[in-house]
Amino acid sequence: MKHNLNLSISQNAAFADHEEVVFCDDPNTGLRAIIAVHDTTLGPALGGTRMWPYESDAAALRDVLRLSYGMTLKNALAGVLYGGGKAVIIGDPKRDKTPELLTSFAHYLNRFGGRFITGEDVGMRVADADIIARVTPHIRGTSSGHAGDPSPFTAYGVYCGLLAAAEHKYCSLGIEGMSVSVQGLGAVGMALCQYLHDAGAELFVSDIRIEAVREAQDRFGACPVSPEDSHRVAADIYAPCALGGGLNAQTIPDLTARVVAGSANNQLRSAHDGDLLQRSGILYAPDYVINAGGVISIAHDKHGYDPARLRAHVAGIGDTLREIFVRSEKTGRPTSRIADELALARIAPPHDRHFAA
Ligand code: NAD
Repeated sequence: MKHNLNLSISQNAAFADHEEVVFCDDPNTGLRAIIAVHDTTLGPALGGTRMWPYESDAAALRDVLRLSYGMTLKNALAGVLYGGGKAVIIGDPKRDKTPELLTSFAHYLNRFGGRFITGEDVGMRVADADIIARVTPHIRGTSSGHAGDPSPFTAYGVYCGLLAAAEHKYCSLGIEGMSVSVQGLGAVGMALCQYLHDAGAELFVSDIRIEAVREAQDRFGACPVSPEDSHRVAADIYAPCALGGGLNAQTIPDLTARVVAGSANNQLRSAHDGDLLQRSGILYAPDYVINAGGVISIAHDKHGYDPARLRAHVAGIGDTLREIFVRSEKTGRPTSRIADELALARIAPPHDRHFAA
């Protein structure tokens, strides 16, 4: 492991931008993990822990560095007093996850002394957080927490952001009578459909799970489309709520909707795809801005928890996006780049790091 990581460190420019990167290697439990703290200017680094069977250690390192940088931007614009960080555990969550491995990981978390706070991401569950919490207080999203599952807050934030985007692009008041193509009917996508249906929107839905599509048909009278066609369908708004990378040079020319507003992480395959959306006259709600409801809920999950304050904070995602849209319109620059600049400007004092484009 060390050999591969050394190789990829020297080749990975993002490594130097990080405050601290710790490689966890515990042969007793089989734990192999990387914890990356990108920036703690605004507060302790907050970001989830992902467990994934990476094809190589270099791939795990690339992922954790990219994700922790993204958390710095996300947390800065979400208005939470946290910096950015992320952890990845290398392994198959179904096969390799044991209480001993999670306990060992928790001991590594303790070494940060609160400079890194984590929660669940892909491959991790509330029950895992509960095991980790027996050893360290630096974990959120446990069953004894206040906020619980973050996805309803993510969905609410996406709904607020989607309304702001529709208002900006179509000068609409609300979403009644407009059509939305929702791709991915998981925890976030299905809850988003409920908000949209209640507000009078017409829904096109797609998922690779047929039972989820049927549920959306039954509950919302939604029109099913194939996952491959979800961005092509004649809808006013496209809401990608499945996987990332869906907005790229192949798919953007086929987009019918003039607004993209969904929860999926890393929707743009590359930064240039944000430029292409702008040139194509499509208003893009930057993913890490619109999907920040979950991280906001985790940030509120502490002493003094107030559900009304949390909901108002999440609704503020709409205001952040309005500011980005207005700046983009005034300058003619893509919303994705405006968002990055606004986020970096919130990290004071200015420093001389080179952030990825
Ligand atoms: P989830 O796993 O509950 O749901 C994802 C859904 O997408 C599943 O129903 C899956 O079958 C479907 N799907 C997968 N591939 C598809 C395809 N090609 N076409 C159509 N559907 C497909 O995940 P989630 O928690 O609802 O998260 C959805 C997205 O939002 C993810 O990208 C996630 O990273 C992002 N996100 C989630 C949260 C949160 O709080 N859960 C927060 C921020 C960002």
